[in-house]
Amino acid sequence: MLTEFLMLVNGERVSARSGRTYRSLNPATGEPWSVLPDADEADVDGAVQAADAAFRDAAWAKLTATARGKLLRRLGDLIAEHAGELAELETRDNGKLIRETRGQLAYLPEFFHYTAGLADKLEGGTLPIDKADMFAFTVPQPLGVVAAIVPWNSPLYLTAIKLAPALAAGNTMVIKPSEHASASILRMAELVAQAGFPAGVVNVVTGYGAGAGAALTRHPLVRRVAFTGGPATARHVVRATADNFAKLSLELGGKSANIVFGDADLGGAVNGAVAGIYAASGQSCVAGSRLLVQDAIYDRFVAALTERMKRIAIGDPIDPASDMGPMATEQQLGVVETMVARAREQGVTVLAGGKRPDRAGWFYEPTLLECASDTLDIVQNEVFGPVAALLRFRDEAEAVALANGTEYALAAGIWTRDLARGHRMARDVHAGIVWVNTYRAVSAMAPIGGYGASGYGREGGIHSVLDYTEPKTVWVNL
Ligand code: NAD
Repeated sequence: MLTEFLMLVNGERVSARSGRTYRSLNPATGEPWSVLPDADEADVDGAVQAADAAFRDAAWAKLTATARGKLLRRLGDLIAEHAGELAELETRDNGKLIRETRGQLAYLPEFFHYTAGLADKLEGGTLPIDKADMFAFTVPQPLGVVAAIVPWNSPLYLTAIKLAPALAAGNTMVIKPSEHASASILRMAELVAQAGFPAGVVNVVTGYGAGAGAALTRHPLVRRVAFTGGPATARHVVRATADNFAKLSLELGGKSANIVFGDADLGGAVNGAVAGIYAASGQSCVAGSRLLVQDAIYDRFVAALTERMKRIAIGDPIDPASDMGPMATEQQLGVVETMVARAREQGVTVLAGGKRPDRAGWFYEPTLLECASDTLDIVQNEVFGPVAALLRFRDEAEAVALANGTEYALAAGIWTRDLARGHRMARDVHAGIVWVNTYRAVSAMAPIGGYGASGYGREGGIHSVLDYTEPKTVWVNL
């Protein structure tokens, strides 16, 4: 029995106008579990028109910033009330461990509450104009319709960090979730309505990237695109926004270095390495997929890590006892297998894993590959799977050179007991986020984003709300 989901447009739950649907598969079994509308250009146009009308309608346009903040706060409360249901829905849809989805759901209300508090703190300013008898000031203005394009690995979290600042600033939205994981976002959109946001302020269209996604990003009424996904898709999105001049933020992939110095606390560094790369089965933009370990501690670290990896229990993601779930899609499993096969051809030593376990579903073992050179494909390219590329280094200078030696620059971890070295590395490693003696720490107050092939723009933090506005400058001749 398949669960049927409908899109949300202008407050109505709707099918695709064409009647076309597609099936979403459960990664733990590989079986279809739900059926969703396959939106085309006409459906997307309807959703964007609804969002554009809602942007102009007094019910939203005349709402005070404080009132918008209250709605967002209420939405955060509703997400907290429905956290269990939302987490289960997401785990079933994308195969992420229930422990991990529950963890993200526990954090989301805080994120909404923090961003709600920013809604009425978006101040303009008076300008000390160098002209007599002139007065000038700025007012932050919302942009209009925001298109959010979301991947499958953390659908609710990656939607929330777009939706909350966009709405706090007074915009309206059309969300296009991944075709592989839309269910939890559709449920959250119902909570948006329940919180009291007017119809049309938040709309969700489901379907494929090349269809609904492309139609949305190039739509002439879209004024801002917030994209999270891979670099190849990002290039399509950049080209689409060449037509509508929508302002753009890109949160892309990474090949983040987790760097362990000889003076590190061994137990902490091993746990940080495991959390860095094997959480979410490695399907995380900030995955610490390059493990750089100093000569002095290398053998001890590898022994402790491989011992620790034996205790990672692969299992059904809905079971709280499981430590690692499946890959979210069969295609992603294929990517992992192909990349590990190529790494073997290029001469890596497989220290752990390197194959599928003997069970149904799209599982892959936690894998550690010892690499003799940083030019190997497996060291340079994102796998988006539970595969760590291990390299050794002699000194700080070599660690920095290795860490900065890819086209990505999203995150990095530094493990050392030397405070000054921790700060030096944080300064010298080129990454949007640097964690010293921790990995994956998140907070509503902390911006997330990268440089280079990891994208541009930041989500989270006080400036993310301003990023959904532009200042209007007003001149008055006195
Ligand atoms: P993807 O790029 O394949 O898809 C992302 C979204 O884009 C999906 O909703 C998809 O339907 C849509 N899309 C596809 N083609 C499109 C087009 N032509 N126009 C508009 N939209 C289109 O990515 P994915 O496989 O879903 O997710 C994995 C990628 O996302 C990885 O590279 C990962 O690193 C990245 N990611 C980054 C972050 C971050 O915050 N930096 C977080 C999570 C994931």
